[in-house]
Amino acid sequence: MSANHLDQCRSCRAPIYWCVTDKGKPMPVDPHPDRVRGNVSIYPDGGTMRAVVVPKAKAAAMRAQNQNLHLAHFTTCPQGRTWKKNR
Ligand SMILES: [Zn+2]
Repeated sequence: MSANHLDQCRSCRAPIYWCVTDKGKPMPVDPHPDRVRGNVSIYPDGGTMRAVVVPKAKAAAMRAQNQNLHLAHFTTCPQGRTWKKNR
């Protein structure tokens, strides 16, 4: 995984990956997979990191197969409300 996309959350200073969703929107994602609640699949695509939000049932199945799923940072950020307001 390239470090180029590694950044720091402006609100809580946590490390984040800047990914691009399938809708072409930038999305901050926690770099560490979440084994319990993870629902975002990320993968490198050319020079960008892609993020795909997986539906709940599929996410549970993928986690059961030990596939790495991450969380969008705005769901884990202590300042999550600020994210929602601004994005
Ligand atoms: Zn944060």
